[in-house]
Amino acid sequence: MSLHLPIYLDYNATTPMDRRVLEAMMLYLTDEFGNAASNNHEYGYRAKAAVEKARQQVAALIGAEPKEIIFTSGATESDNLAIKGVAEARGERGEHLITCGTEHSAVLDTCKHLQKHGREVTYLQPDQFGRVVARQVAEALTDRTVLVTLMLANNEVGTLNPICEIAAAVKDRGALLHSDATQAVGKMPVNVNELGVDLLSISAHKLYGPKGVGAMYVRRGVRVLAQMHGGGHERNMRSGTLNVPGIVGLGAACEIAGREMAEEAKRVSALRDRLERGILARLDEVTLNGHPTERLANTSNLSFAYVEGEGLMMRMKDVAVSSGSACTSASLKPSHVLSAMGVPDELNHASLRFSLGRFSTEEEVDYTIEQVVRAARELRELSPLYEMARGGIDLNKVHWTEH
Ligand SMILES: *Cc1c(COP(=O)(O)O)cnc(C)c1O
Repeated sequence: MSLHLPIYLDYNATTPMDRRVLEAMMLYLTDEFGNAASNNHEYGYRAKAAVEKARQQVAALIGAEPKEIIFTSGATESDNLAIKGVAEARGERGEHLITCGTEHSAVLDTCKHLQKHGREVTYLQPDQFGRVVARQVAEALTDRTVLVTLMLANNEVGTLNPICEIAAAVKDRGALLHSDATQAVGKMPVNVNELGVDLLSISAHKLYGPKGVGAMYVRRGVRVLAQMHGGGHERNMRSGTLNVPGIVGLGAACEIAGREMAEEAKRVSALRDRLERGILARLDEVTLNGHPTERLANTSNLSFAYVEGEGLMMRMKDVAVSSGSACTSASLKPSHVLSAMGVPDELNHASLRFSLGRFSTEEEVDYTIEQVVRAARELRELSPLYEMARGGIDLNKVHWTEH
């Protein structure tokens, strides 16, 4: 079998759509074009029925009631809606929020926006692995805290937060808990009741569904003020004509994930470990960012000392990975996640994220190991600092090759 180049190892940025998802959507992109809000003819009824089936499929994957699922345009919108919607619904009491510097920018920027409008936000300090523990949350909670928002799985390093224990602390003080579970849903079992969350964000394109569609779980009885006003769709929480094909795709993606996730996680984690071991066995001074075990099965974030992550990517054009997060890689800013974890700037800039998925193969992993090892060795040969560290200190060479 020949390799399809470049090899795609950036599943945390987006996943290719599963063909079965496309098949499920096709009818709603063609003959079944009805508006799910048209409640006076067959076209509308059938579109609505398709949406309600998808609502059940999404709910089933996370152990929720269908009524607790609100369709959105993706996790960015779900995060915005959950955070602003709760802060506004709580009004007077909505004065204080708690989050962490390792969150996705959809959460951090929303919190910053609320801060600008007079709310107080506490940013918890994660440990070196990017985790926050329940005790920290308990200590930060006040009578004015309305919402704690902490992700289930981090998109850059894969680290899992102990959401279940955190939820207990949050409930104790009468606040609500939102979790951005975009990277977790479809990769590991997620059950909103076992976790104890009140709100949770999902995105279809991170689990082999289409882009531009997502969902927010809202526990029954939790009040969220709409951020998009209009026709009163989605129980008044999110107006706008429903993206029926997208929603059908999200539903199909959730159903497939529910069936195949356990097997897939085993296969993917074996591949991820093979990749990690293959690189670590052949290169020295490579460090793992993120928790060694409490981590998504598909994610490996590595720092290659003495090497720029960007330069490394450029020397391995046949492998599509990510340096920093996809959102910041246009600029050469260090990853805010690694910074929050206390990773020094040199190692931050030296980091690459490998994220595997459904269509990753052993052959691709082996090819990637070769490419990474070759590229890192080439760059290190050009690095006077690496030579110095190896003991071959030649000050002349340092001077002349520094630029
Ligand atoms: C991808 C991602 C988002 C944004 O999701 P969109 O559907 O692309 O808006 C939010 N949070 C996390 C953790 C993500 O990985």
